[in-house]
Amino acid sequence: MGNKEEKLRLIDNNGLRVDGRRLDELRPVKMEVGVLDKADGSAYVEHGRNKVLAAVFGPREAHPKHIALADRAVIRCRYHMAPFSTDERKSPAPSRREQELSKVIREALEPSIMAEYFPRSTIDIFIEVLQADAGTRCAGLTSASLALADAGIPLRELVAGCAAGKIEGKVVLDLSDVEDKKGDADLPIAFMPKSNAVGLLQMDGSMTEEELGQALDMGINACRTIYEMQKEALRRKYHVERDEAEKEEIAEVKA
Ligand code: ADP
Repeated sequence: MGNKEEKLRLIDNNGLRVDGRRLDELRPVKMEVGVLDKADGSAYVEHGRNKVLAAVFGPREAHPKHIALADRAVIRCRYHMAPFSTDERKSPAPSRREQELSKVIREALEPSIMAEYFPRSTIDIFIEVLQADAGTRCAGLTSASLALADAGIPLRELVAGCAAGKIEGKVVLDLSDVEDKKGDADLPIAFMPKSNAVGLLQMDGSMTEEELGQALDMGINACRTIYEMQKEALRRKYHVERDEAEKEEIAEVKA
């Protein structure tokens, strides 16, 4: 059994990965906006085998009052993995990992939110991972940014998330669970294309400086693709047509 596992190759002789993807290929991504009735804004994202729901409430009066800020909204974020989201039942109690991810996701989203318009209020972001297959913090971020937009909260821009990394010595895009577990490094990224700003950058494992540069480029490129999908998902919900300037922008990204 142990021997069999050791023999699993993450990249085959044709340069293809376990799920048949090329090194720089994104997993299939699907998004839908406005999937929950009770939340002010919501979104559902499938990123490969990850399934993530995000719900946003607010801006609403800060509760308890002592957390309120005089000049802007307080943004709170909870990332949570459902007990049925992994192979082995995950404890429903909040783990240290979930606390960390809640914080880094909030910090990545905060610069995009015009919180200064809503003093003494709160904006609550809930991310629920229904199925996990590595990259849930990135899919969660992508989904939460859409839910914020769906709630009608003024945003400077959308935030998109995607990881890059390294497996069997090669830089690859968007690691799946088996690649994350058996690979050499994972580099989750959150990116805001208009301001060209990275809002989240973490690394698990090790890479050379050159590999890191390559992975960063690959991840940021994928975030740009995901950003276009986010805009498309919002358009689908709100039936908005693209204008000419945007069509040109998309053609440039694709070129
Ligand atoms: P991310 O999901 O953002 O890649 P990690 O790198 O911490 O975050 O986790 C990678 C993957 O490991 C998760 O997507 C999930 O598939 C799995 N995983 C994480 N935590 C647990 C857990 N407590 N139980 C089972 N699997 C887990």
